[in-house]
Amino acid sequence: MLITPFDPWKSSMCTCPKKYSFSPYTGCSHACLYCYITSYIPNAFHARLKKDLFRRLKKEVGKVDTYISMSNSSDPYTPEEEELGATRKCLKIFKEKDVPLLIITKSNMVARDIDILSDMRASVSITITTLRDEIAKKMEPYAPPPSKRLEALKNLSKDGIPCSVRLDPIIPGINEGEVEKIVEAVAPYVHHIVSSTIKPRNDSMKRMGALIDMDAYEWERHGNTFYLPREMRFEMLKRVEEACRQHEISFAACREGYKFRAKSCDGSHLIPSYK
Ligand code: SF4
Repeated sequence: MLITPFDPWKSSMCTCPKKYSFSPYTGCSHACLYCYITSYIPNAFHARLKKDLFRRLKKEVGKVDTYISMSNSSDPYTPEEEELGATRKCLKIFKEKDVPLLIITKSNMVARDIDILSDMRASVSITITTLRDEIAKKMEPYAPPPSKRLEALKNLSKDGIPCSVRLDPIIPGINEGEVEKIVEAVAPYVHHIVSSTIKPRNDSMKRMGALIDMDAYEWERHGNTFYLPREMRFEMLKRVEEACRQHEISFAACREGYKFRAKSCDGSHLIPSYK
């Protein structure tokens, strides 16, 4: 199946509403240093189109009874999309069936599809982890720079598409110091921010070693995932929450065990006529 119930590895920390997950691509060429899809997708940083994508999607799309999150283990606007236009074709299929959609991306390419998105039940969540293009280049080497992502947020919101931001992951010693600035920069364009601290797995832990001294922290193991100490995580999340409060944006945390008041963690409450 292409459209599957979202299952964050049965994490007891997950607060997501019932939703479906769909990715036009397998793997993701953004190749973010902290990404853990390498732990379960072979050749993960080389995106390829799902086999027989459109025929299968058309067959499955009529069966969904809640919103679809696109995408969770790949980016729907991975660089290959520019030439292949597969995500754009999928949007047209969703639009035709009036499927509520939450897009999660790290690319400004999503603004290319404003013409379709503005006429469907869709909300867009753009991940912004830093405002410094040079740091983003190190962490997210093949994703468009944050300056372009901000521009996309501006254009999407100008055209009435409800947006949120994922400030995820917060990494001590890298972007921890700029969370307030990030919230301030995106505040004019978004209604909601969901944040999360870095949660490496074995393989991303090794890659992250190129950026920071991973041994400097006492990692707590939750299943296959490592968490920073709770006190440290909560302190960082509290700062994001406070910045959101100051800018009157709703705040949520993702798989942290941190209480929040927002209507949803993932920003799905922003999907028009959905809630
Ligand atoms: S954009 Fe997301 S899925 Fe793609 S490499 Fe980065 S973290 Fe992984």
